[in-house]
Amino acid sequence: MSDCLFCKIVAGEIPATVVHENATTLAFRDINPHAPVHVLVIPKEHVEDSAALAEAGLANDVLLAAAAVAAKEGISESGYRVTFNTGEDAGRTVFHAHAHVLGGTGLSLRLG
Ligand code: 5GP
Ligand code: ZN
Repeated sequence: MSDCLFCKIVAGEIPATVVHENATTLAFRDINPHAPVHVLVIPKEHVEDSAALAEAGLANDVLLAAAAVAAKEGISESGYRVTFNTGEDAGRTVFHAHAHVLGGTGLSLRLG
């Protein structure tokens, strides 16, 4: 999608701090981190939300990439949260499916 922020990051048109990449996914640091580790994992293909991600057969790839990010960031043992926001009430702002990987500190029950 030509006007999608995350598609532009995949295309290299907007810079991002990439922490993990493979054939189907890209992971980069959130520009406004909510935790010491706050990485966004996206499918390179544009799909709208977590349901579309599953329908496209890419949910497995994103979750495996989230685990790889956690390992690289050294938080596999200490723990981390993987969050998908959907819709206005969840505070969704970017409509290219993405998993938030949050960790590096004790996380409160407040999500996201
Ligand atoms: P959402 O609220 O849609 O689940 O999450 C979108 C996330 O994208 C937010 O946490 C926001 O900080 C992050 N974000 C928005 N614009 C950019 C950007 O240009 N670069 C990066 N790295 N993150 C962004
Ligand atoms: Zn997109």
